[in-house]
Amino acid sequence: MNTFEDFKIKKQLQNAIADLGFEKPTPIQTESYSTILGGSDFVGIAQTGTGKTIAYLLPILQDLKFSDQPHPRVLILAPTRELVIQIVEQIEKLTTYISLRVLGVYGGTNNINTQKKAIAEGLDIIVGTPRRLYDLALSNVLRLKSIKKLVIDEVDIMLDFGYKTQLNNIFDHLPEKRQNILFSATMTTYVDELIDDFLVNPIKKTISISGTPLTNISQESYAVPNFYTKANLLNHLLGDKEKYSKVLIFVATKTNADRLLETLNFESETSVIHSSKEQNHRSKSIEMFENGTSRILIATDVIARGIDIEKITTVISFDTPFYPENYIHRIGRTGRAEQSGKAILLYSEKETALKESIESLMNYSIPFNELPEEVQVSNQLTPEEKDKPIDPDEMYHKKPVTEAGASFHEKSAKNSKEKVERKSYQTLLKERYKKPIRRGDKIQNMKKKKK
Ligand code: AMP
Repeated sequence: MNTFEDFKIKKQLQNAIADLGFEKPTPIQTESYSTILGGSDFVGIAQTGTGKTIAYLLPILQDLKFSDQPHPRVLILAPTRELVIQIVEQIEKLTTYISLRVLGVYGGTNNINTQKKAIAEGLDIIVGTPRRLYDLALSNVLRLKSIKKLVIDEVDIMLDFGYKTQLNNIFDHLPEKRQNILFSATMTTYVDELIDDFLVNPIKKTISISGTPLTNISQESYAVPNFYTKANLLNHLLGDKEKYSKVLIFVATKTNADRLLETLNFESETSVIHSSKEQNHRSKSIEMFENGTSRILIATDVIARGIDIEKITTVISFDTPFYPENYIHRIGRTGRAEQSGKAILLYSEKETALKESIESLMNYSIPFNELPEEVQVSNQLTPEEKDKPIDPDEMYHKKPVTEAGASFHEKSAKNSKEKVERKSYQTLLKERYKKPIRRGDKIQNMKKKKK
């Protein structure tokens, strides 16, 4: 389908789209339209900028018949006030020629009593942040039993911000029979769990926009046994301040982000962002990295995706991402605007399978580097690593091939030479999203269990 006419949407929507000046649907719009319209539960993996909002709004608006019933039939949840406002704006633009009642609710400046009054006047669609929405549901002014469709936008951010309880509370107020539509930019363990718990046979579509041809990015990898050896390697590499003048380092968890900041030798040149930091702190960190005050920015996947910073020389995956798409998103931060960029992946033995999934997805073996001699292999383990210890000697002093196959080191070297098994992207996604291959490897899971 290459035009909006192919969607066979109603005239009023066609006209609104024409007014907006959209010529053809974006890939996520093409992928989602008929599935969402068909009524299946849906998961869209797409970043901001892909046209994801219109992707779920179009089929919802196509399906929504005029009604003067007082209670809303569509609930859209978003993590931030800004996103709520944007979504409401897009709905208003799309419904220029349709009679439809929509309201955006969020905390802070938005007065709850004004919101209650607006709700009492009757609504078709309500868009809100979870906490405020739940407060309104508790007040009995907002009745959620007539909701037919639930959309959760930017669900990765929502869960990273710790809104899981609010979501569960809201789910309790919703009718069981409803269509669930989830959109997320990144896949995370939390998103996976939410899908498992609340969706019924969802159809998943992934749209990746790195926007950067991977040919601009030179990739390399190091097999490194543990956190502290990885930190030693970074201290060695990042000593070259000219070569590494603007470095974005991705870590899997907030704990690793803070721990890495303490361990690196460059504390005064390093900023950290993750969801437990205050918004002010995050903005300041990003600004310092952007204007060059900080040379190094340490970030988690979810929180980093909102930032758009030019001229990043190197993207370092300190932890190998569990979901291979996240690696593509990560490295797409460098090599922009025709500039060349560098991407370095550090992987421990436990992370080897994850690295191989990334290579299958790209159909490319990431060139392998030997650990420089100057880098000390540490025996110190983090509390998380102690849960499942790895013996560094096993990796670096070649041992006889074990039952499981070649040793980590040998396998890595071999892998860099051999062509990776070709699998279709869809097959890979199916394998990946069906069930985690080794649930214990999911770092967030490990962290949660420990609590
Ligand atoms: P989103 O990914 O939903 O944040 O949308 C990003 C921007 O793309 C918004 O400003 C939309 O108005 C715009 N947009 C959405 N769909 C299309 C389309 N089919 N053609 C051109 N622009 C679009």
